[in-house]
Amino acid sequence: MELRWDPILREWIIVSDERGKRPLLPENFCPFCPGSEEVPSSGWDVLSIPNKFPSLRPDPPEPRIKSDRFYRCSLSRGVCEVVIYTPEHNATLADLSVKNIRAVIDLWAERFSDLGKRDYVKYVFIFENKGRVIGVTLDHPHGQIYAFPFIPPIVKREIESSKRYWKRNGKCLFCAVIEREKRDAVRIVCENDDFICFLPFFARWPYGVHIYPKRHVGAITDLSSDERDSFASILKRVLRKFDNIFNMSFPYMMVLHQKPTDNKQYPFYHFHVEFYPPYREKNKIKYFASVETGAGTVTFDYTPEEKAKELRESPET
Ligand SMILES: [Zn+2]
Ligand SMILES: [Zn+2]
Ligand SMILES: [Zn+2]
Repeated sequence: MELRWDPILREWIIVSDERGKRPLLPENFCPFCPGSEEVPSSGWDVLSIPNKFPSLRPDPPEPRIKSDRFYRCSLSRGVCEVVIYTPEHNATLADLSVKNIRAVIDLWAERFSDLGKRDYVKYVFIFENKGRVIGVTLDHPHGQIYAFPFIPPIVKREIESSKRYWKRNGKCLFCAVIEREKRDAVRIVCENDDFICFLPFFARWPYGVHIYPKRHVGAITDLSSDERDSFASILKRVLRKFDNIFNMSFPYMMVLHQKPTDNKQYPFYHFHVEFYPPYREKNKIKYFASVETGAGTVTFDYTPEEKAKELRESPET
């Protein structure tokens, strides 16, 4: 296991052949249900545990391949954790009460701050892959955390753009996007006192909403207690809307974009959540095919305005 540098795209690849050899779990066995190996049988609502098949480790083995100046390798140093949202095997994040979603948010904040303090962790990436169609094999509701030894490329790009905007305009790029979305109004999905959800003007996925705190904060650890409640509440509303669009448990990728934890200052960065749901219509999948994957250019076969309207009108119950 090691990191390999791609000198052409200038980014790290995580090579972990151990993960490819993960054993198949016996049918009907859930490692995240209370009472199984690493999961206490009672006394918890939400839990984080080490990922049993991590692609990043606090004490990684030396790379098998010698690094040279042209083909560089590095240690796969980091942490991979699993966040089990609830003891209930058949629930989803959308089914949890606002209070229990708040408990998940508190755990995210605690893990962000704890992992972020380690000197080898430059970026704490909190995310959820949900649904078999995304490739999830375990149904038990859970998310994951990757604590990276580098700032991943998409976040890096966001940092570069927002830093440039901050320097040129003296304000936050993300705050400017929120302001503009509020003014245009047609792509707003829902909002409350502290948070707003919209399908941005530049949406990449048909239902790929973003959720922003209205106050300029860099990470969930900067949110007040009231703001965390508002965050839990809007998350629940958005997830219910998702499930109600096609009357199915809606698959998605959900990522938290927060400031890095490399001890540098990021006053220009603004925490937000992005969703990438793979459906574009009922029973129709949006594939990131050649144009998206090979050219890096997204084709959006609708308008963000019509998709936002669908979501806005989708019930929250
Ligand atoms: Zn389970
Ligand atoms: Zn901002
Ligand atoms: Zn982002």
